[in-house]
Amino acid sequence: MMDRRQILRAGLLTPALLTPALALAEQFAGTYRPQAEQIAEGVWIVRGVDEPIAFANGGAIANSAILATEDGPVLFDPGVSREHGLALGAVALDLCGKPVARVYVSHLHPDHALGAAAFSPQIVHALPATRAELERDGNGFTDAMYRLLADWMKGTALVLPQGDLTEGDVIIGGRHIRLIALRGHSGGDLAILDQASGVLLAGDLVFNNRASSTPHADLAQWRLALDRLATTPHRLLVPGHGPLDRDGSAIAQTRDWIDWLEPALRQAVVQGMDMSEAGELPIPPRFAGMKAARYELQRSVSHLYPALEAELLPRL
Ligand SMILES: [Zn+2]
Repeated sequence: MMDRRQILRAGLLTPALLTPALALAEQFAGTYRPQAEQIAEGVWIVRGVDEPIAFANGGAIANSAILATEDGPVLFDPGVSREHGLALGAVALDLCGKPVARVYVSHLHPDHALGAAAFSPQIVHALPATRAELERDGNGFTDAMYRLLADWMKGTALVLPQGDLTEGDVIIGGRHIRLIALRGHSGGDLAILDQASGVLLAGDLVFNNRASSTPHADLAQWRLALDRLATTPHRLLVPGHGPLDRDGSAIAQTRDWIDWLEPALRQAVVQGMDMSEAGELPIPPRFAGMKAARYELQRSVSHLYPALEAELLPRL
């Protein structure tokens, strides 16, 4: 169990989000209804809502993708809960006529990872770093999600990925894909390039018109990962959150946000602002159309400020 302070430190919740989900559970009638949109031959995106995790959305905020193969569909990111994973699996079965053959978990965050509970652990694969991070934080995430999402989470136990990935080209059911092992948004960030379609599944290394979240970020590594994605030829990019990127702008936008965020917070520390003042920093007009910008700025302050203060403030 994580206590409330640990959960806050892990960046899962802001105080405003600690609403009494259990009180709402009595009238619970929620059902996940994921909608798949075909974006290339044998490739579908399932969009999350561009909001913070909340009871009202069942935590279904991350994008997922489905790739058809002769052995059955590949599901990239199985959602936030067992029910969510089951619903995504049903969509994949409907589209491809076979049950899910392989699940890839892009990284440890609960909105992407906990839906693995709907699948046999043997078909769930992730980077070794992601597996290690889930071993460390997964049960804490599950507890926190139960508190926020209540009945949406029923039956969701942590499933650790059994398949450890390494970078490289693989063929699944006749489909050629490249596994790209990166880090920066978290300690292990998997991206996948579908060779036939040129669709790049970027996970949370790329956000599109939705502000990036930073609870486990290493911003220097994140920039290197963005360099790598930018130089990986692709036609379409599925971001972890936000709409499909058709014009190549989402990688640059993600970089622009973190390149603004880090010096802005450093300057706020040097100017002597406290955390609540830093959370109210003006957001540049070029990010006006970006969803959840104020919310993610305030979360980033809570994750990044203590270390910046320790680094930048004179010791008394
Ligand atoms: Zn994430």
